Amino acid sequence: MSRTDLWFASLLLPEGWADDVRLTVIEGRVASVTQGTAAVPTDERHEIGLPGLPNLHSHAFQRGMAGLTERRGPSEDSFWTWREAMYRFVDRMEPDDVEAIAAQAFLEMLEGGFTRVGEFHYLHHAPTGAAYDDIAELAGRIAAAASATGIALTLLPVFYAHAGFGGQPAAPGQRRFVNDVERYGRLIEASRRAVSSLPDAVLGIAPHSLRAATPAEITTILPLAAGGPIHIHIAEQTKEVDDCLAWSGRRPVELLLDRLPVDGRWCLVHATHVTEAELDGMVARRAVAGLCPITEANLGDGLFPARRFLDGDGRFGVGSDSNVLIDAAEELRILEYGQRLVLRSRNALASPAVPSTGRRLFDGALLGGSQALGVAGGLAVGAPADLVSLKADDTTLVCRRHDQWLDAWVFAGGRAQVDCVWRAGRKLVAAGRHLEREAIGRRYRQTLARVLQEA
Ligand SMILES: [Zn+2]
Repeated sequence: MSRTDLWFASLLLPEGWADDVRLTVIEGRVASVTQGTAAVPTDERHEIGLPGLPNLHSHAFQRGMAGLTERRGPSEDSFWTWREAMYRFVDRMEPDDVEAIAAQAFLEMLEGGFTRVGEFHYLHHAPTGAAYDDIAELAGRIAAAASATGIALTLLPVFYAHAGFGGQPAAPGQRRFVNDVERYGRLIEASRRAVSSLPDAVLGIAPHSLRAATPAEITTILPLAAGGPIHIHIAEQTKEVDDCLAWSGRRPVELLLDRLPVDGRWCLVHATHVTEAELDGMVARRAVAGLCPITEANLGDGLFPARRFLDGDGRFGVGSDSNVLIDAAEELRILEYGQRLVLRSRNALASPAVPSTGRRLFDGALLGGSQALGVAGGLAVGAPADLVSLKADDTTLVCRRHDQWLDAWVFAGGRAQVDCVWRAGRKLVAAGRHLEREAIGRRYRQTLARVLQEA
């Protein structure tokens, strides 16, 4: 029986901050939490402890493109010109490459304060478009990368069938993503096997978007979720809203809520361009808004009306999406700053009940992100011991306490203040560095050199 006793001067528990806390971890789970107790020599001592945050939306392979699409092209650059560059990158990747890049992305997530990732996995087939002998070959590579880094995985294999609204045939650049309903069923079955040996893994489904999957197809694949999460990209771009209106007379979120049984298992990723009625509908259905503030800013998507959504008790989580930069605190910071810039006010996402903006963002992202990834989240007895400690003596955090640590971490710091990270009680990051950083980084460098050389 494996047992670890961690002692924290302060630890953020589901009921709030507690001081002088011993967290006993047995077989990877929180076995007991004792508050107001002095450390003993057998305790591993730390100052500031937080539950690990869920990263609810990632396309791991896109980590390899970070910084390569920041040059002006011949025409106006947009999400759509970025997507063309992404398709060219996709064309060159072999299974080993997918695994190496995903491992680097997952390692950086752990170092950045995330302990679980929702991988919205749409790269399924060989470069020719043919299925691999094992249809879940690449899902297996994502699982292998999760295993190598230790991050918890919610795998969301993507259903992708069309190039645009109304069932348009997929484009050549999309051939590695595409399945019909029957083959998708086999992919889900094989993906379930691929994650079966990963501790605490969750499998869900992900109709890519209303562009790539029709409402009728989504209805057909829903039973494959088998109680797990259901994620969909929606209303990320104004062009998508316009195309949806032209095709159906309704906006994407409006159409989704009308036609499909959206409930608390659903995560609406981006939902950037929404009306007040659509926001109210999302709240009423208890769906999570999957916000990806760094990527949405990088791609020029627009701004989700987060203040109105949170004031209405909407649930949200954050995701690193394109992985152009991986940092849990910075996702929360950009989320708040977007609202400040538009509303021309400060502390836009704090509330009368939770006046600390850092705390409100952290609590919200923990709760909503966990819901979206199909887990409980937080350091309750019986939960996996997924936690993060911060460097209390870092100049950014010094002379602060409790919620002020979160405010300082989110607004004045970031990944540099992450000290240790545990997943299921296993310490994976110490002094801000993942234990496998050298080996995983070496393989990533070699992979990228080869993949980009083939350009
Ligand atoms: Zn995405």
